[in-house]
Amino acid sequence: MKKVLLAAWCIAVSLDCFGGGKLLRTPSVDVVPRPAEMTVSEKGVFTLKPSTKIVFASNDEALLNSARFFNSVISPSLGGELTVVCDGKKASKNIQVTLGTLQAEEYQLSVTSQGVQITAGSPAGVFYAFQTLRQMLPAAVFKGETASAIELPLVEIADKPHFAYRGAMLDVCRHFFTVDEVKTFIDILALHKMNRFHWHLTEDQGWRIEIKRYPELTRVGAFRDRCSLEPGAPLDAQPYGGFYTQDQIREIVKYAADRFITVIPEIEMPGHASAALAAYGFLGCKGEGYTVPDIWGVKEDVYCAGKESTFEFLENVLSEVVELFPSEYIHIGGDECPKARWKECPVCQQRMQQEQLKDELELQSYFVQRIEKFLNSKGKKLIGWDEILEGGLSKTASVMSWRGAAGGIEAAKSGNYVVMSPNSHCYLDYYQTQEVEKEPKAIGGFLPVERVYSFDPYEGLNAQQQAYIMGVQGNLWTEFISTLSHAEYMALPRLAALSEVGWSYDHRDYNEFKQRIKSLTGLYEALGYNYAKHMFE
Ligand SMILES: [Zn+2]
Repeated sequence: MKKVLLAAWCIAVSLDCFGGGKLLRTPSVDVVPRPAEMTVSEKGVFTLKPSTKIVFASNDEALLNSARFFNSVISPSLGGELTVVCDGKKASKNIQVTLGTLQAEEYQLSVTSQGVQITAGSPAGVFYAFQTLRQMLPAAVFKGETASAIELPLVEIADKPHFAYRGAMLDVCRHFFTVDEVKTFIDILALHKMNRFHWHLTEDQGWRIEIKRYPELTRVGAFRDRCSLEPGAPLDAQPYGGFYTQDQIREIVKYAADRFITVIPEIEMPGHASAALAAYGFLGCKGEGYTVPDIWGVKEDVYCAGKESTFEFLENVLSEVVELFPSEYIHIGGDECPKARWKECPVCQQRMQQEQLKDELELQSYFVQRIEKFLNSKGKKLIGWDEILEGGLSKTASVMSWRGAAGGIEAAKSGNYVVMSPNSHCYLDYYQTQEVEKEPKAIGGFLPVERVYSFDPYEGLNAQQQAYIMGVQGNLWTEFISTLSHAEYMALPRLAALSEVGWSYDHRDYNEFKQRIKSLTGLYEALGYNYAKHMFE
């Protein structure tokens, strides 16, 4: 590989000798999400050459990651990586990186004819500065065209995110995505300066995380028999499924952390638990006769809230989960839990009597609060879908609002922290056009890019209540999405629009976004991402 790169570099140099081989500055500087402040000089360039160095003041591994990332972007064009030095010495014509007294994700990027200066509040800010720099490269770099030098436009940028939480959820249960595919999804988040990956790991239709103490969860629960997730469609050719080993989980958590993305695992309870019940029948009220379902939808069989053995199981599972994920939050689902089984179950009813719970909603609240106490004992915080409000919510749990924004508004008003991901604006599995016959099958709905872009996570809240809105998240459920290419098509460019809601909340402009996103699609194409084109028609 090195020989090939060296050869490419020699060719590039020789081209330069013949008066060519320089990749000219991009005509327009289009950064997504939109920076808080940016001034572009129409004239002049900084010329990035193989001799340009990236200079840090220390050899902090988190900083070096940004250099590795930027080198991976430009080395195919320049025929080699820029030298990284960690002595902090100032010299012209370099990319000089310093940490200053800015907010953690904040950065300033100054490109003059004499060099590039990055100042950031933390290594995350440095990473975002390099992401911005990447979007300012000539399109030829994305295509891997070789050159002796790359021109950068002269800019002054001062940038920071509005919301601390900027996330996306991927459902790997209705359909399974490989480790490499999950990494690509994480790359897409990083490109848009998003910093949370919500990983939906357990469902009725599949349990996807190895738990050492309960091997049947993945031996049985990770696979469904010949089935189809669409009524009337042909059956799978063979049993369908898959799971991630704990080593693979660690690999993905590290991959995300290297890109300043926190992975939040979701272990669903008390509903959406059929795969776990199929593996260990004692977890359900009936105690036996469960299978991994062959169709989606809300299932009446859920974890028994009466038996102590259910809580023992979940605490053992979560004990392994908290060791794998450094995230301060663990998502426990909590959505769509029918109460039919609990109403018929003598053990559940006995629990309600003992705990003086007036109905099954309060039993669910008991369930969630008991799990929250356990997570707190492990130094973690609980977050769940907005149904966890039903029957009473603890003061300390956080809510992810999906059935519109109402649950999030209610939670923020009562002083609970909230992530807004309402299906009205954030459901990336919805159709992007009303001409659905021309589209790959989706779950329904209609959510064009412009509507995502228009989302106001603060709507209906006063200034004091707004402080409880941590941020926004796009959700990609995969009932009808079985390939990464299809997932990309659903996510892009709507995720780019959502990234501006999260990062550029108070300085957004949709018409301007429509122009800037065109440049970004050049990068999508070079990276091989499949994206929807409705907004350009
Ligand atoms: Zn029960």
